[in-house]
Amino acid sequence: MFVRLLSLFILIMLAAGAASWLMAQPGSLSIEWLGWQMEMRSSLAVTLVIVFALLLVFFDRLQRALRSMPGWLGGRWRERRDTAGHRALTLGLMAVSAGEPMEARKQAARARRLLNAPQLTGLLSAQAAHLAGDHAAARRYFTALTNDKDIAFLGQIGLMRLALDAKDSPAALAAGGKALDLKPQSALAAAQLLQLHADQQNWTAALEVIAIVIKDRKKQTGTVPELLSRQRTALLYLDGLTALETEDDAAHASGQFTAALRHDPAFLPAIFALADLYLSGAGNRKATKLLEHSFRLVPHSEIADRLLALWDDNDGNSIARLIKLIPKQPEPVQQAAYHIVSDIAASKGLDGEAKRLRALHDASVAAFGWQCGVCKSRHDSWHSHCPSCGQFAGLTWQQPEKVTPLLGD
Ligand SMILES: [Zn+2]
Repeated sequence: MFVRLLSLFILIMLAAGAASWLMAQPGSLSIEWLGWQMEMRSSLAVTLVIVFALLLVFFDRLQRALRSMPGWLGGRWRERRDTAGHRALTLGLMAVSAGEPMEARKQAARARRLLNAPQLTGLLSAQAAHLAGDHAAARRYFTALTNDKDIAFLGQIGLMRLALDAKDSPAALAAGGKALDLKPQSALAAAQLLQLHADQQNWTAALEVIAIVIKDRKKQTGTVPELLSRQRTALLYLDGLTALETEDDAAHASGQFTAALRHDPAFLPAIFALADLYLSGAGNRKATKLLEHSFRLVPHSEIADRLLALWDDNDGNSIARLIKLIPKQPEPVQQAAYHIVSDIAASKGLDGEAKRLRALHDASVAAFGWQCGVCKSRHDSWHSHCPSCGQFAGLTWQQPEKVTPLLGD
């Protein structure tokens, strides 16, 4: 500041000096131009030239300043537009998560007009249209997203959800498959495909995607949810069964049944299937071992029937061998075993033994059966999908839920 003041002061001093020097100079200047004649002192002429030069510089500066004005104004204008656009985007996303379709669509349209961010505004518009139930518009927006490689995955997931809403399984499978191609570890896509493949009874494909879902759950929570675990067991069993029935591939079937029992040793359909597979291959010893082990875990009359046939012993000995397999606990399972063995003893005419076993059996304990974990309906046999509500692998072998055993008087 001081330097500038000083230099200005020196300049003024110099200019004053120069002016007084000029004024002191003698002589004059004569100009003749287009018949005009002008006479002036040379010092005045020099001063005029200097003033004219200074004016030129001043106007040049002014013109430049004016020319840069619109840019500055435009910058401010764009900034305001961006702020309003981002605000609309935020409000739109909030409206989507709050489930307000009208507000979401209004803000989406605003954001689209104000912002040059086609990915974000396209995604918001698609979500808003889906929420509003305008499936045609939602499909258009989601399809547009699939053309942008950064967000193609979200576009395919959106298209898959639209197809699911419309109960269009082939379209949902196609979009879900493309989503998984784009992101091979996506549990989101895999979980949806699991349901679709299971509903179409494509067990092999369902097994592939359930592995992705399980891996993700393990990573997120360290455990596998019970239903997911039951679905894996069911898929292994069903895949083995299909291999056996359609391709007569006993080796693959045996591997899948064994894997199913490794995850859940009490899964009855796999116990029966594997025992029967052993029996058909003259593996009687393996079948006996499996069935004896299984009866201790999950007593079932069909296991007992197979054992009786395999042991090929007299009735008294067979009943004695079954009694040895009755588990000490847990109590409900022990009760179920008493029930089964006493029935068999009675059917063989061993009335004394039947009576003794019935006395050990508490008749008020509810019998085991297949029950759906979702709709609680009960069924005589296992089904891949609950016959009442359609839940895949929903049935479990259990005592009826919501039934309180009667207490003795
Ligand atoms: Zn059900």
